Amino acid sequence: MDREEKYGAHNYAPLPVVLARGEGVKVWDVDGKSYFDFLSAYSAVNQGHCHPRLVEVASKQLRTLALTSRAFYNHALGEYQEFITKLFGYDKVLPMNTGVEACETAIKLARRWAYDVKGVARYQAKVVFAQNNFMGRSMTAVSASTDPESYGGFGPYLPGLEKIPYNDLAAVERAISDPNTAAFMVEPIQGEAGVIVPTPGYLKGVRDLCTKHNVLFICDEVQTGLGRTGKMLCVYHEEGVRPDIITLGKALSGGMYPVSAVLCDDPIMLTIKAGQHCSTYGGNPLGVTIAKEAVQIIIDEKLSEKAEHLGKIFMENLKKLPKDVVSEVRGKGLFCAMVINENVNAYDVCLKLRDNGLLAKNTHVKNIRLAPPLIITEQQLNEAMEIITKTINSFK
Ligand SMILES: *Cc1c(COP(=O)(O)O)cnc(C)c1O
Repeated sequence: MDREEKYGAHNYAPLPVVLARGEGVKVWDVDGKSYFDFLSAYSAVNQGHCHPRLVEVASKQLRTLALTSRAFYNHALGEYQEFITKLFGYDKVLPMNTGVEACETAIKLARRWAYDVKGVARYQAKVVFAQNNFMGRSMTAVSASTDPESYGGFGPYLPGLEKIPYNDLAAVERAISDPNTAAFMVEPIQGEAGVIVPTPGYLKGVRDLCTKHNVLFICDEVQTGLGRTGKMLCVYHEEGVRPDIITLGKALSGGMYPVSAVLCDDPIMLTIKAGQHCSTYGGNPLGVTIAKEAVQIIIDEKLSEKAEHLGKIFMENLKKLPKDVVSEVRGKGLFCAMVINENVNAYDVCLKLRDNGLLAKNTHVKNIRLAPPLIITEQQLNEAMEIITKTINSFK
């Protein structure tokens, strides 16, 4: 910890616990104390820490071929691309590495589509975002952000972005009826904002409005996707909603390696031609081999169904916590958060949870996200709930 403080940039404030091992839903610190991991690396380890199938395919691929760059074809990319596009029902996939890169790529695609297909005048395209969104920390991401912690001190910002309230269809229609609008980009549940679940019908409404105004619906599923909320994609909770562009990341590699993806159909994807967008590591054999297995694990182990089932039990129990400490609980599947009352410090609650053997981190001042690996068993969930209950009761 001291060395990180002395030699590392101070762009994080980690909870004081130093982890040295992980297996399934648990992690161990350097002294051998074990913890339930209720952050799951922001839902990157939905499949659990060091999943044996991922360790196996990753080690095998590491010994075979790790990186070729896209200057050449590799033996693994095509197979992965066929798998992932058929699974999600899109014509094409564009592989990137981190979530923020996938989101940047989606915005670039939307701008190109606006000029080449929709016919928006050169460089007049507008992309609309919801307030309190989170898509990472690149300049585009912070330009789209309404959080001063995110954008403050980093201007000038990318032009052509508009921000509207989340979960407000009238605001969507006002913003996107501007004929220069390329896309509306939104998270189906806002994760970093504190697991904000929109009103049922919101995503269907967004879909209908985007269709009506010939605007692309970009759904950022980097955190909500891949089983977390009880479905393979969070948008699947609303029937008949098919976004034009999907971004995936985090659990796409089960915590092994940064892998992200943009999925959409040909009229959008093929606006970008050879040489117009690239990434040295994007689509590398190691990453795509891991990604294919990581997604297959979610299917084989029925992790979406597990999240749906256990999430209901978990939410019911969370709702029983004393209201004078936990004023509200929110969530879907195993993507949950408790809102800590103003007279209690949420960070102190996280420290106490740690002492009691469970790791979670507060987002903003008062929300504590609770999102265990989806491989958690009902018995482990009950054990973890006991820790949460005991900890919360100690703040009464
Ligand atoms: C985490 C996250 C991102 C960014 O992913 P990184 O891998 O950290 O770049 C983008 N969108 C959402 C919704 C996220 O939660």
